[in-house]
Amino acid sequence: MKYDLIVFGGGTAGIASAYTAAKLGLNTLLVEKSDVLGGAITKGLVIPCMKLNTNNINTEFVADLCAFADKYNARHTYIDGNKLWFNPELLKIVFDDMLSFVNCKVLFNCIPVKVNYSNYNNTFDSILSNEMLSIYTEAKYIIDATADGKIFKILNCEFQKNSEIFQSPSLRFLISGINLNKFSNWLEEIDKDRNVTTIDRTSSQIHLSTAYTWDKNKNWALAPLFESGVKNNDLLYTDCAYFQIFTVPSMPDTVNLNAPRIILDNDESILDPFVYSRALKQGRERIYRLYNFCKKYMPGFENSFISHISDMLGVRESYRVKCKYTVTKDDIINPKTFENTAFCSDYPIDIHSNKNENDTLEYTKKTYCVPIEALISADYENLYAIGRIISSEFEAQAAIRTQVNCFSMGEAAAKDIYKKINLSAI
Ligand SMILES: Cc1cc2nc3c(=O)[nH]c(=O)nc-3n(C[C@H](O)[C@H](O)[C@H](O)COP(=O)(O)OP(=O)(O)OC[C@H]3O[C@@H](n4cnc5c(N)ncnc54)[C@H](O)[C@@H]3O)c2cc1C
Repeated sequence: MKYDLIVFGGGTAGIASAYTAAKLGLNTLLVEKSDVLGGAITKGLVIPCMKLNTNNINTEFVADLCAFADKYNARHTYIDGNKLWFNPELLKIVFDDMLSFVNCKVLFNCIPVKVNYSNYNNTFDSILSNEMLSIYTEAKYIIDATADGKIFKILNCEFQKNSEIFQSPSLRFLISGINLNKFSNWLEEIDKDRNVTTIDRTSSQIHLSTAYTWDKNKNWALAPLFESGVKNNDLLYTDCAYFQIFTVPSMPDTVNLNAPRIILDNDESILDPFVYSRALKQGRERIYRLYNFCKKYMPGFENSFISHISDMLGVRESYRVKCKYTVTKDDIINPKTFENTAFCSDYPIDIHSNKNENDTLEYTKKTYCVPIEALISADYENLYAIGRIISSEFEAQAAIRTQVNCFSMGEAAAKDIYKKINLSAI
């Protein structure tokens, strides 16, 4: 089977790429390891998308995604203007619909086992497999959107050096059966100056967001609860590292928790399969404690229950690939102009630290840009990398890894490939 483009990884960045390429008319195959599209958004329960202030929210892909999501009641525009509050379960259906609408072929439960580059006709031959059957494919272009650079690894491409600091992973979960009216009234009462709580009563369903972290610089309304939780042995101190609550569109009694943070030892790396496996177990233990804590301490949670634990560990950073250009921390802090801009953003450097008081959220308040060369492999002209693996220094990745940026990278890579295929056809 011959394709213009194969996108490996049907997650945040991969979907944007495959959708855009197929919409432009490229013969596109999307290969996804699991049984569902969406990656971190659906399987990882990472909703809502982080709000960005600038242009990359107004792209064609985001507009189409919102239109498709609205068909399924899978989206809410929050009072702060963020239009990307999604329902992670419904998005699984939305993504299927979007890709079939643009005639993109999708292979689920499939991984690449071999990828070779043929200098003879400048194409990639790949063997894909579901562990029982193998499929042979050829493609003019490949995009690695696997979040770990798995195609770069198979092709023996260069990677960036691993950093000495790292991002902590999290394991997100949903709690359902909550009386949101009672909970939001109570939140309004305890967070009178609304330092960290926002409540949106503009739609038929109450939406809200609140948080607590062990960062002492903020006036957390939930602080007395967490302090009591630790004092009464209902929580470990490390359970308090990071706790964020968001409601979920079309789930009127449910909240999504950006928690718990997994605490690893200094010398432990999430790239080690044993550490990764222990992290999952640690995450589920913390979830159970946090859930019981919510039920005991927060009005409205009396009849609640855990309704979903993320199907994948929330890894913020693993491997970063090496492309023609490496995005540096300085590119984020002192923005530059590039001849071929892939996308621009203003999301800050956001490091979730393993240690108390070491979190970083460096607001640049500036719009910075990323060149297309940061998405094109240093080794192969027709191999692209998008998503959290982007060719970047650790701190730069901490800014550009967010979902809307991943959508923008996906869109930019697809458009660049479309341009090159059309030029070569002239
Ligand atoms: C806990 C956590 C909280 C976050 N919070 C936010 C937030 O609030 N807002 C925000 O904007 N961003 C947030 N982020 C960041 C953002 O979600 C991720 O950086 C982004 O979604 C990564 O996108 P991706 O496409 O690189 O990876 P993913 O979305 O993970 O997609 C990778 C896909 O590749 C597939 N795959 C893997 N290997 C193979 C293979 N060999 N063959 C085929 N397919 C394969 C996977 O199954 C998956 O579907 C958060 C991240 C985490 C972990």
